[in-house]
Amino acid sequence: MTASPAPAYKDTLNLLQTPFHMRANAKVREPELQAFWAEKRIYERLSRENPGEPFTLHDGPPYANGALHVGHALNKILKDIINKTALLQGRKAVFVPGWDCHGLPIELKVLQGLSSSERQALTPGSLREKAHAYALEQVEAQKSGFRRWGIWGDWDAPYLTLQKNYEAAQIGVFGRMVLAGHIYRGLKPVHWSPSSRTALAEAELDYPDGHTSPSIYVAFPVVGLPDGLERKLGPAARELAVAIWTTTPWTLPANLAVSVNGNLDYAVCRVEGEAAAGASHLVVAAELVDTLQTTLERGLTEVVRLKGAELEGLTYRHPLLERTSPVVLGGDYITTESGTGLVHTAPGHGVDDFNTGRKYGLAVLCPVDEAGNLTSEAGPFAGLNVLKDANPAIIAALEQAGALLKQQRYAHRYPYDWRTKKPTIFRATEQWFASVEGFREQALAAIDQVDWLPASGRNRIESMVRERGDWCISRQRTWGVPIPVFYHRETGEVLLNGATISHIQALIADHGGDVWWQRDEAGLLPPELAGEAAQWRKGTDTMDVWFDSGSSWAGVLGGLAEGSTTAGRLSTPAIAGRPGLRYPADLYLEGSDQHRGWFQSSLLTSVAVNGQAPYKRVLTHGFTLDEKGRKMSKSQGNVVDPAVLVEGGRNEKQEPPYGADVLRLWVSSVDYSADVPLGPGIVKQLADVYRKVRNTARYLLGNLHDFDPRPQAEGGDAIPYAELPLLDRWMLQRTAALIDAVSGDFERFEFYRFFQALQNFCVVDLSNVYLDIAKDRLYVSAAGDARRRSCQTVLALVVERLAGLIAPVLCHMAEDIWQNLPYRVEEASVFERGWPTVPAAWSRPELEGPMAQILELRTLVNRQLESCRKEGGLGASLEAQVQLEIAASDGTAALREALTQLEASAHPDVDNLADWLLVSALGIGGAAPEAVLAEAREGGITVRIARAKGEKCERCWHYATDIGRHTSHPTLCGRCVAVLEG
Ligand SMILES: [Zn+2]
Repeated sequence: MTASPAPAYKDTLNLLQTPFHMRANAKVREPELQAFWAEKRIYERLSRENPGEPFTLHDGPPYANGALHVGHALNKILKDIINKTALLQGRKAVFVPGWDCHGLPIELKVLQGLSSSERQALTPGSLREKAHAYALEQVEAQKSGFRRWGIWGDWDAPYLTLQKNYEAAQIGVFGRMVLAGHIYRGLKPVHWSPSSRTALAEAELDYPDGHTSPSIYVAFPVVGLPDGLERKLGPAARELAVAIWTTTPWTLPANLAVSVNGNLDYAVCRVEGEAAAGASHLVVAAELVDTLQTTLERGLTEVVRLKGAELEGLTYRHPLLERTSPVVLGGDYITTESGTGLVHTAPGHGVDDFNTGRKYGLAVLCPVDEAGNLTSEAGPFAGLNVLKDANPAIIAALEQAGALLKQQRYAHRYPYDWRTKKPTIFRATEQWFASVEGFREQALAAIDQVDWLPASGRNRIESMVRERGDWCISRQRTWGVPIPVFYHRETGEVLLNGATISHIQALIADHGGDVWWQRDEAGLLPPELAGEAAQWRKGTDTMDVWFDSGSSWAGVLGGLAEGSTTAGRLSTPAIAGRPGLRYPADLYLEGSDQHRGWFQSSLLTSVAVNGQAPYKRVLTHGFTLDEKGRKMSKSQGNVVDPAVLVEGGRNEKQEPPYGADVLRLWVSSVDYSADVPLGPGIVKQLADVYRKVRNTARYLLGNLHDFDPRPQAEGGDAIPYAELPLLDRWMLQRTAALIDAVSGDFERFEFYRFFQALQNFCVVDLSNVYLDIAKDRLYVSAAGDARRRSCQTVLALVVERLAGLIAPVLCHMAEDIWQNLPYRVEEASVFERGWPTVPAAWSRPELEGPMAQILELRTLVNRQLESCRKEGGLGASLEAQVQLEIAASDGTAALREALTQLEASAHPDVDNLADWLLVSALGIGGAAPEAVLAEAREGGITVRIARAKGEKCERCWHYATDIGRHTSHPTLCGRCVAVLEG
């Protein structure tokens, strides 16, 4: 419509009336709606009082440090969509949000905030106090962000890994693992971070690009051979060396063996040119002779070939220290992919080395202290730092000793401390371990029982668990849960048993983990041992934070409840979970990196204690990237800050407040099984989709201002289904199909399909078709005309269901729609209505085919009308009349059948092709109109457009030939006169 009718007649139209605004005003309106939910206790009531089964989506705790980013949004909003769906479907979906509160990053934050004198004065107690306060502050800040996004949960009672009851449950998990024999103390090479001075778990390592190490080839002179071998080698035996390759020269002082693979072939080669460690013959893997000639820049001529097994028992002299060591048989980890096929073995600095060393009874020599400095056991190299000056000094010494065959830089994957971004080393230390070997088969069996989504997750975690070593659970830090162990002051003997653990668990339940630092040994030992307190020293290690979060099934879900455990019992009472939560949980949902993190630590502890996984189903999501698929980073300037997206930036013109619903809509729109993009262009598109849905809802609401949804029989306006025109039945069929499809999408967690279906429904089915055709019914007809009431009946039925369908994602808009329904409904909130359903009668898929035929025809006609408009021959489509000729061919049979059905409708005032085409007159067959403006022929259909006969009615803008016949309204058509005088 380009102009308004005369004012007097405009007032006789039924125009839109609704307080539901076109603009969301999300910054104000969303918090109002959240306050409404809080006041009505909607989440609290539904999650506790719904009639269905409990549903437990157990929250993986984010780390309590730093501002929320879009990764948090993806994670928590996905969880909320799933929980809100469950609530709508009548389940008791209690969501207890959590935070991971211990660990090094918080400890470092506290330390960084102190002056050097404050740092000097710091005690473990005061450090823990500050770390505790800092963590709580961070929790509050993140919490307010999550709440602003409309996430529902027990925000007033979240779980924190620093809570007393949580820590006590964690000690319970540890204790049961001790009693089941799964916890041991051992000297073992672990990933060690000299920069943090602590052991690290796999999950705390990064492998940055571009790392290079000094790689060296070294000859170790052979000093002794088994008799048989000496004879076989002849003169070569007297001047023989074994060649090794290493990328960690600093580990050479700890060399205690050279390992070979017993099954590989080795070649004793004569060295042409420069000798190696004074030897004229070198042992290398036979397969590598050619490569090594090039690398070492020496001719190598094979004189004898041997099996690796024959080398066992050969001895060599350390080129730098007064030490003789053996050649031993390692395992299949020794290959010919790189190096020489002979492996320098330092049991204190590598896992394979450690295992091989254990077979041969080698010492676990580790001449490196916690800062990464070589100790006196490294002889002349004592005091050098392994990540700084040790390598060059050792390489220089090798060169001087004539043992260095070659050195070059070598690029490879190398583990870094993920927090300090500095390289780590392997270093043997006394640590506490969970023996994964003890329950690996059970863990693999448990993995098999879980539903992994996507399915590739199963293989990931299965191979990780199959191949992983024992879990080092001790950390040399202060901000954590103590490992509740005592050591004998003289013998070093360990005191750790059911009685001590139960006692300390009870103390922690009362006082929190701080009690371990606040009390001395006498105050920590059980009364019957207090007398011996002077003999014992309490340990100073804390637990790996992955053990903290990995115990949440016990601290939150109640997995330690009496009767649920198969491992050893502690004498303390069972530790209850939060009411309403189930163990095992129905669902864990985190980023795909958690297969090696929380999914795994939770699985291991739960299997070790209870013999089962703590979850039935595990869903993973990818990571957020910018629009070009790059990582978001401050330096790239491509970070999308969710707070700015929701609340707007400093300049709201440039960074408008889109509101939480647009952020939520983004989460629903992405295929999160892979990494997902977000950037300003995507936000703009989402805001358009949001507006489209909002305006559609507004149109529906605006046309219901005078509608009473009760049946006419009860004094209302609603028309029974049986009396609805075809067009309306088609709209209800589309609605039924949408609900059916979206219900499936939500069940499969494929929210992006919902996003597509929603757009299609709003843009195509509603705006382009149904509402476009309905304008005349809604505006022009008399308010109480069946033609209008039937349409309003459909609008009311659709808008209530649309609100329900979008409620899990666009929760604020859905509630806003509900609050603006212009008639009374029983439920105060859209969430109380529940998941949309439809009567069986609405499902009429047989209407789809004929309607598709007619809509195709409509598109064809619209194209012609459009071309007439472009050429200036025509204004609005109502200025036109259309004549159709439809050939009686097979190609048009379906269309002709559809038109016959339309013709046969009992409601010609609605099911009327001229109205559906928005033209003033339509003829099928008959004579062609005069003065045809456009004509097209396509697939047996001829479309002719001409100017409509008669004049334009001032009220309805249809062209009619009866205008002027009515003296009271000389500018109106007969239909409008009837409306006004009816
Ligand atoms: Zn009219």
